This record gives sequence, structure tokens and C-alpha cells, in this order.
Amino acid sequence: MSTARTTIDFEQSGKQIGFVDIPHSPHEDAWGATRIPLAVIRNGSGPTVILQAGNHGDEYEGPITLGELIRELDPTRVRGRIIFLPAINTPAVMAGRRTSPVDGLNLNRTFPGDPEGTITQQISAYVSDVIMPMGNAYVDLHSGGSSLNILPSAIIEPAADPDLRSRNIAAALAFDAPLTVVIDNLGEPRTSTATAIRAGLVTIGTEMAGAGTVSLDALAICRRGVRNVLAHFGVLESDTPSPLARPEAILRIPGHDGYVLATTDGVFEPFHALGTTVKAGQDAGRIHNLADPAREPEVVRYAADGIVYGRRQPGRVVMGNCCVTVAAPYYGELR
Ligand code: CA
Repeated sequence: MSTARTTIDFEQSGKQIGFVDIPHSPHEDAWGATRIPLAVIRNGSGPTVILQAGNHGDEYEGPITLGELIRELDPTRVRGRIIFLPAINTPAVMAGRRTSPVDGLNLNRTFPGDPEGTITQQISAYVSDVIMPMGNAYVDLHSGGSSLNILPSAIIEPAADPDLRSRNIAAALAFDAPLTVVIDNLGEPRTSTATAIRAGLVTIGTEMAGAGTVSLDALAICRRGVRNVLAHFGVLESDTPSPLARPEAILRIPGHDGYVLATTDGVFEPFHALGTTVKAGQDAGRIHNLADPAREPEVVRYAADGIVYGRRQPGRVVMGNCCVTVAAPYYGELR
């Protein structure tokens, strides 16, 4: 049973900004709590949209966008309810790290969570057990984080149910990012978006640049996209109807073939800029052993046709690190 509590009343009209307190008892603080920021804006009747960011603590466009919306949004412009979780893995966000400094876990590999587990598992359980059952739609705002730089995109999580799939695709296109990409994380079931799909929520994600910094371009895309998608769900009045991104342009990461992994330790020299069109078998870059100039660098190759969609940010790699990600044309259902 969860010991998390909040003073937010999810049924109350107007704007409430508060916290979820999860009791935590480390050496420094026997009877305190980990405080997770939570805001709710409710007005009239309409759907409930859950907006989440800070799933990984080193991805900043989402938390900035949601903080602004929480402060600026006039509740009378809302039709229904918006639940904001702008820094969901708060210990990781405060540390600027992908994983939690409390228990070392990646929140996005702990869903649906455990109310009697570690702090990170308790956070995912609160989202799965308390927040998701209130929602009609779920938006999880990611960026590339410290180790990746990714072309800004709206993300479609695959859904087996055709009706849910078409509604997910429509919502991702309504976000109107420069790219719309299907990512299944190799079938990983422990992500927040995979869990939201199983709960029947219309679900989208984002990838907004990354490299552990704030991208001006990606932030502008994120600000606009979140408002677009709120208008699409009908919870926010829209000043300007957004043109939909084109369904014909949807891409996907083609499973294992989409990831070029380091075959040795060293420094990765990429051969192509983000967005470059590449072919399977083509050289993607090479890994240098800087301490041994007599040794030839080791070439790594693409395994799929597509565009260079994401690239490793730090130069240093060890065997198995993701150097480059390719996004290929998507040939599945378009709506
Ligand atoms: Ca992420």
C-alpha cells in the first residue's frame, strides 16, 4: 500500500500547485519526505490530460515548458482537467542526472512500479496507480539526455489496438514537431508510455534535442507542441489551428538495426551530421584508440537505410555504447 499523500484535490475547480509527498527516511532525515511537484487545472467538463516531464532528470525542455504552463495558464481557458507532473523523478531532476541518486534506478525502466519498493519504484507506482486511472490522455516529455542529441520529434508508442493506435498517431501529428517517429524501445514494457498504452490512455512522447543542455530550437518546438496537443484533445482553446504534421513523413527506429553500437573502447568520430540520409552497410564513423597511434581506428557501420536521427554526445565510448541511431521510413498503419 502506498504511503504517498498530496493535499491537491483532483476534483476541485481552478488551479492548484502543490506536491506529492513520499515518506523517505535516509540518514539525514528520519521522518521527512521526497516532494514531487504536482499541479492540477480544472474547469468545466472535458477530458483529463496528464502532462509529465522530468522522467529523466537531465532532459530540460519538458520541465521548463510545463513550469511555464502551470504558472501562466488561465484556468478559464481550460475545458476539462490538466494534471501536471513537471519534474516527476524529482531527485534525478535536482541532480541533473538520468537516473535517481537515491537508488540508482532509471524511473523509465521501473513502471508500473511498486508502492512498497524504493523511492523511484514508489514514484512510478503513484503515476500508474493514482494518476493514470484519472486520465484520458498522457504526454511524456523527453529529450535526449546527457549521452544523446536527437532531432526534435513527437514520439508514437506502438499500440496493438487499432483504435488506440490511430488516436495516438493523430495526437503525435497534432503536436506538429519537425519529425514524428515510432519508437518501441525494442519492446521494453517498463516505460511510462508502454504502461499508459496498457491502461488505454491516448499516449504520446517527445524527444527534444538533448546533450544535457537546453536547446533554444527544441524549447520553442516543445512549447508550441504541448499547446497544440492540448488543443487537439479539446482541453485548451486554440488561437490558431495547428497544421498537422504529414502522416506520410512518419519514421520509426527499425529495432536493433537502428542502433550503431561501439565495438571497442575509444573516441567515436561520427561521419555524418544529424538528418543525413544514410544506407545500410555504409560507414557510420570510427573509434580511435588515442593512447595507441599505431593502431588503426575501428570502423562501425549502419545496419539500416534512413536518416541519422540521434548521435552520442560525449566523444568517449566503451564497447556497447550507442554511437548513432537511424530512423527509417515507417511502413505501418498511418492513422
Ligand atoms: Ca529520455
